[in-house]
Amino acid sequence: MSPRPIHGLTFAELQREARALVPRGHGRASAVYQAAVREGRFEPEALGLGAEASEAWRAAFDLRLLDVVRVTEEEGELGTTAKAILRTDDGLEIECVRIPMGRGRHTLCISSQVGCKMGCAFCETARLGLLRHLRTDEIVGQVLTARHTLGWEVRNVVLMGMGEALDNYDHVVHALRVFNDPVGFAMGQERFTICTVGRVDGIERLAREGFKRLNLSVSLNATEDATRDRLMPVNRKTPLAALQAALASYQPRANFALGLNYCLMPGLNDTREDAARIAEFCRPIRRVLVNVIPYNPGNAPLTRAPTDDEVDAFIGWLRDEGLPVRKRITKGRSVMAACGQLGNVELRARRRAGALPVVD
Ligand code: SF4
Repeated sequence: MSPRPIHGLTFAELQREARALVPRGHGRASAVYQAAVREGRFEPEALGLGAEASEAWRAAFDLRLLDVVRVTEEEGELGTTAKAILRTDDGLEIECVRIPMGRGRHTLCISSQVGCKMGCAFCETARLGLLRHLRTDEIVGQVLTARHTLGWEVRNVVLMGMGEALDNYDHVVHALRVFNDPVGFAMGQERFTICTVGRVDGIERLAREGFKRLNLSVSLNATEDATRDRLMPVNRKTPLAALQAALASYQPRANFALGLNYCLMPGLNDTREDAARIAEFCRPIRRVLVNVIPYNPGNAPLTRAPTDDEVDAFIGWLRDEGLPVRKRITKGRSVMAACGQLGNVELRARRRAGALPVVD
């Protein structure tokens, strides 16, 4: 049996396995685990374990960070946005992006799948199709690689990179449990945001998990079923009314505020009536913060990017409707690291050449 990635386990899971697999030295499980997930080091010998115990640890577990293929950067108002392409152990590539938030803090946007099957019309990743889900250790491994290979400061994490997080539900939720584990990463739920296109089944399951402080954001992007069907095929299965009902019942805590992402696309979803319909959509949901994201044209643009005046006008209409709104500053557009722009061009070429399987 090949060694299991230690960072794909909670401490309780590791302890259970170490008891069975590491006859001498399993008592040092917490030290081994903490060195791995907090410092990115898997060196049982350095923790004073003897040769036999260290060998047993190495035979049972390992710490495989992702290979960094390349990093591209763009300077902006709040700091440097950096996109890293990371290679999985089976030779596929995923992307994560470090986004500056000001005051030296950063949010890491990580991937949950290689590619994506949701088919959103404005998204580069959609053009890849779904190659496979990421395992727990690969989701967690992006944060470890960012911190310990790239030396990046990571405060908060958003699951908004490649893939639909709730389509890879089990691994994503398991990764959250690993991140939240007080013996290991000890990163609180409030530091994580799951972003979804509106997988109602996933939202309902998430409501039952008991993650009281986890953040959730949903990409709305259209206010009528006909437009949303075209922009986001998930809407054909779960139309706006079903999404609205699921979000109205998602209340993990009293002061929970849902993030509602709205990618503003000139000529497609940017009218005064759209702003009024967003307010209508939000009415049964207790608290909402609307994030208006200017569309980032990719390699096959649907439309142009909105001007600053257009974005400001739309935000003004939303405020007139009484909605709290935040304008997302576009970061990383020139390195294809901005929202909707993650989609590995080389992988797409390999897929087109028939060299990669596509799921579904
Ligand atoms: S926007 Fe998100 S869910 Fe939609 S295709 Fe792109 S990665 Fe998938």
